[in-house]
Amino acid sequence: MSRRAVAVRIEGIVQGVGFRPFVYGLATRLGLAGLVGNDERGVFIEVEGGSAPVEEFLAALTGDPPPLAVIERITTGPAPVTGRRTFAIAPSAAGGDRHALVSPDVATCDACLRDLTDPADRRCGYAFTNCTGCGPRFTIVRDVPYDRANTTMAGFRMCADCAGEYHDPGDRRFHAQPVCCPACGPSLRFHGPGGSGAAGDPLEPAVRLLREGGVLAVKGLGGYHLAALAADEPAVAALRSRKHREDKPFAVMAGDVAAARRLCVVDRAEERLLTGPARPVVLLRRLPDASVAPSVAPGNRWLGVLLPYTPLHHLLLRALGQPIVLTSGNVSDEPIAYRDEDALERLGGIADAFLTHDRPIHIRTDDSVVRVFRGRDLPIRRSRGYVPHPLPLARAARRPVLACGAELKHTFCLVKDDRAFVSHHIGDLENYETLRSFTEGVDHFRRLFDITPEVVAHDLHPDYLSTKWALDQDADLVGVQHHHAHIASCLADNGVAGPVAGVAFDGLGYGSDGTLWGGEFLVADLAGFERAGHLAPVPMPGGATAIRQPWRMAAAYLDLAYDGDVPEDLDVVRRNAGQWAAVVALVRRGVNAPLTSSMGRLFDAVAAVAGVRDAITYEGQAAVEFEQLADPAVDDAYPCGLVSAGTRFAVPGVELVRAVADDLRAGVPRDVVAARFHNAVARVVADGCTLVRKACGLSTVALSGGVFQNLLLLGRAVTLLEERGFTVLTHHRVPPNDGGVSLGQAAVAAAMAANSPIRGVRRELSQARHTWFGGMSETGT
Ligand SMILES: [Zn+2]
Ligand SMILES: [Zn+2]
Repeated sequence: MSRRAVAVRIEGIVQGVGFRPFVYGLATRLGLAGLVGNDERGVFIEVEGGSAPVEEFLAALTGDPPPLAVIERITTGPAPVTGRRTFAIAPSAAGGDRHALVSPDVATCDACLRDLTDPADRRCGYAFTNCTGCGPRFTIVRDVPYDRANTTMAGFRMCADCAGEYHDPGDRRFHAQPVCCPACGPSLRFHGPGGSGAAGDPLEPAVRLLREGGVLAVKGLGGYHLAALAADEPAVAALRSRKHREDKPFAVMAGDVAAARRLCVVDRAEERLLTGPARPVVLLRRLPDASVAPSVAPGNRWLGVLLPYTPLHHLLLRALGQPIVLTSGNVSDEPIAYRDEDALERLGGIADAFLTHDRPIHIRTDDSVVRVFRGRDLPIRRSRGYVPHPLPLARAARRPVLACGAELKHTFCLVKDDRAFVSHHIGDLENYETLRSFTEGVDHFRRLFDITPEVVAHDLHPDYLSTKWALDQDADLVGVQHHHAHIASCLADNGVAGPVAGVAFDGLGYGSDGTLWGGEFLVADLAGFERAGHLAPVPMPGGATAIRQPWRMAAAYLDLAYDGDVPEDLDVVRRNAGQWAAVVALVRRGVNAPLTSSMGRLFDAVAAVAGVRDAITYEGQAAVEFEQLADPAVDDAYPCGLVSAGTRFAVPGVELVRAVADDLRAGVPRDVVAARFHNAVARVVADGCTLVRKACGLSTVALSGGVFQNLLLLGRAVTLLEERGFTVLTHHRVPPNDGGVSLGQAAVAAAMAANSPIRGVRRELSQARHTWFGGMSETGT
């Protein structure tokens, strides 16, 4: 039988995920000789033996890799036959792992869960059980290479048993950097009203406290959480008031899928997300009779549910036997607490007791939030469990890029070659604490991935802290318009370069003309864009105050819709009679009333007219509640014809507000009104894209911006567009909201140098746009 030798190289997330033991086991099982090792590019293998087993080996490498491995590239070539007889794991070259990818944190695997509950196992009941297939990663890594000494496990010396597992290529814990056991690893502590560190299992007083209606601070993977029994209204209400969080929903942790099904409808795609290694919070349709306290998610048909992702969560949920609220450990909108002393201080006034431990968290990382749209992931927040896994770019960057993101739901993004590393969720970049999280995060990512940015991309808004910081950097600066960044993020998310008809609907973003945009139709590719159409601008009375008080947008829109003669029998007028005239005066005089074409503000206006709410306590609240009000069985829509506005087309939002107000005055039920409005906006999306297609032949549409978190609108818009023959791109890997903007900025900066295919399209557009309507038949099909 002929002997054959093959050299294999594998790139991707292949270190710290049990790849070498997997290769070792596979090769020895097939009786092959050779070696496997890690280097700076990933894993290298030399394997030799009979032709058939070598073929089988190569097939199994890609067919059945370890669950956490992500193979990006695999190359094979011939190697000299040496006649060696054994298979070995080659030692890592010093510093050789430096550029290898760090894995995201991984939920406890099934094998570790068995160890956790097996009375005969030495890790039974041990809250820090992990292996190469699961456990903390990103949150404990201080530096590269990814070795124990460079993690927050450095202070724990492995006992002889753990060291034996760590060095045994046949063991599940071979080279698992955070490996530990009760004899040598971190331990739990309980700090309660009766003092701390009492004898016995710290879990017992923690469970007792929760059962008695207390609020417990629990140290997790990426920060502290606050917990209370999900069914206990006084406990949840106390948590809400102490945390100063008025209405924003809390997430609920259920013990397993069966427990989640007692609260919500869980379809197959949702189950896959709930039980997957990333364990995000999944937004699920809540059952009407679910045993959940009213204060958990007031007035919300959806419930954010997640399953346990650390051994500590599993132990806690098993001991309790019922779901808990598990929300970020912070006050109001501050960043989540993750350092022990800081947590004790900041959460001391909220929590009745602390369940903590001595394994430090290096990087604060919030839970991710995902919902399912048409069977696929639609991320709302991409953080723990996903970060720092890189996203591939359609076009490689010639120079390394740092994209500084926007402001709310902030992330940043570093790019080298064709890999984009989007950061964890930083928070709303509005104060010193989050700014520090941002700059420390940038330093950390630069070190971990060995990237020295030469190009810095930023938003055009001069007042964003991210912009101000970017302008201070010693690098080539690229300003990227906010909505172009949204569309580019959707392109990058889908691995395409455009050009497309891009629809960017969000709250607000700084426009190229200095006004506030947010209801935009762009012809865009990665390198550039043209504004083809937009929502007709209206004044935002009181500026930022109008964001917090949607009734002000209602006043502005109604005054325009009724030409200054707003019917006084409208409830929104009655409710705000005291300030109505003053606010309308701002609108009419144009004082402290910047113009905006924001779709988010139009939703606010309509929600206030419909009596959903006049003031909000969290971003997008009025629109979220208005979506829930809509009756999905209603199919008809308000008419809203696009109009020519100089060189572009405009969407007359006032017509929609007028139609809503007239319907309400005629006694049409609010759920019908809400549905008709959603259907109208979906039709506007389709009509606008149809105009763009007529003008320049583009039949691919990208939908982005926070407004497209609205599933009713998204679903109706996608359906209409597909009926009209469009290919529709939506988000699957980064959020449509501002959490995805940094990826878009990075993709734009990376593509700027390359030739832009948009130029030809631009010519057609500029020919067409002087004649959006009248000349349409002349400008082509
Ligand atoms: Zn495991
Ligand atoms: Zn040990």
